[in-house]
Amino acid sequence: MTPAPHPPWGWAAPGRVNLMGEHTDYNDGFVLPFAIGQRAKVAVSVRDDDLVRIHSRQTDETVETATSTSPGDVGGWAAYVAGVVWALREDGHRLPGVDLWVDSDVPIGAGLSSSAALSCSTALALDHVGEVGLDRAGVAEVARRAENDYVGAPTGVMDQLASVHGREGQALLIDTRSLEVQHQPAHFVEDGLVLLVIDTRASHSLADGDGYATRRRECERAAELLEVDALRDVTVPELARLPELADDGEVLHRRARHVVTENDRVLECAEQMRSRDWVAVADLFTTSHASMRDDFEISSDELDSACAAAESGGALGARMTGGGFGGSAIALVRREQLGTVRGCCLAAFAAEGWDEPRLFTVEPAAGAGPL
Ligand code: ADP
Ligand code: MG
Repeated sequence: MTPAPHPPWGWAAPGRVNLMGEHTDYNDGFVLPFAIGQRAKVAVSVRDDDLVRIHSRQTDETVETATSTSPGDVGGWAAYVAGVVWALREDGHRLPGVDLWVDSDVPIGAGLSSSAALSCSTALALDHVGEVGLDRAGVAEVARRAENDYVGAPTGVMDQLASVHGREGQALLIDTRSLEVQHQPAHFVEDGLVLLVIDTRASHSLADGDGYATRRRECERAAELLEVDALRDVTVPELARLPELADDGEVLHRRARHVVTENDRVLECAEQMRSRDWVAVADLFTTSHASMRDDFEISSDELDSACAAAESGGALGARMTGGGFGGSAIALVRREQLGTVRGCCLAAFAAEGWDEPRLFTVEPAAGAGPL
């Protein structure tokens, strides 16, 4: 199976940036992402047997499995695609064998959710050939299960929801408990600002080990000790009991404090965006980054330097985005300041002898759909 010829690209699903709400999604909290222009595209053709063949232009590999695939059969990148086949079959849908081609311009492992772009675009393609009839929420749910239960990545549902519900010019305020999605305008471009992504190129999937899973377990333990369903249900003063409740209570206290304060920041950030107070939004970026660096400990030297350099160049505020342990930071920058901010980021990385960071601006773009 070769990259070309293949049928026309049929479906696409975007990556995302998250403006606020890191590691709040698996704590039943709020998140505030938007879908970006970068996306994964999928082409599909139906086979007359039950093989599933998957080709990625990025890996330049073809992986073969069957429609009856189950977790463990396929590892590596192709698991994000095979996992969607598995999740749909688990739900009782009959799928034909297929050849699937994938091409994506979402930077991989950069914290911009190339994985959800891949799994959501695959879900749309399979929904079509299997005549499944999924709605947007259904696509996100199947894609999330593929990542959680087939790939084994214990992520929350933000990335998939952002990818399916994205809209041009709009951010998404998502309540991950009710799964309610509220679109709200993100007018920063009209107001003379840009959102700069600083991809540190220190890939989180290489660096994090089981950092993400550890944080998730720590949050679950904190909730258990506080006898609540999720950290969504507690306030900062209520966390003060944690240090006495367990040997590692001091650490759990800091972890929980990040989640609870970050949750509040999501709601405040959404409100400040509605009133177009970008200085206040950017201040929240900076506070959020400190919380992730000091309390949740998911930042990295590269991410800390990226944020500090952006701010020294005149960015209004900056924070890491995504799961952490590497990946990307975002900075809110007045357009006339962009050149200086970029220069400061490049200089800071050069001074450390790190790879040059990838710098680009993003705007809210449309969500997953047919091409
Ligand atoms: P992120 O979602 O932030 O980019 P993840 O670690 O969640 O990072 O997902 C990255 C993984 O997704 C890659 O390691 C790879 O397995 C898979 N992936 C994403 N896009 C592609 C693609 N176009 N081709 C092959 N694999 C991809
Ligand atoms: Mg991902």
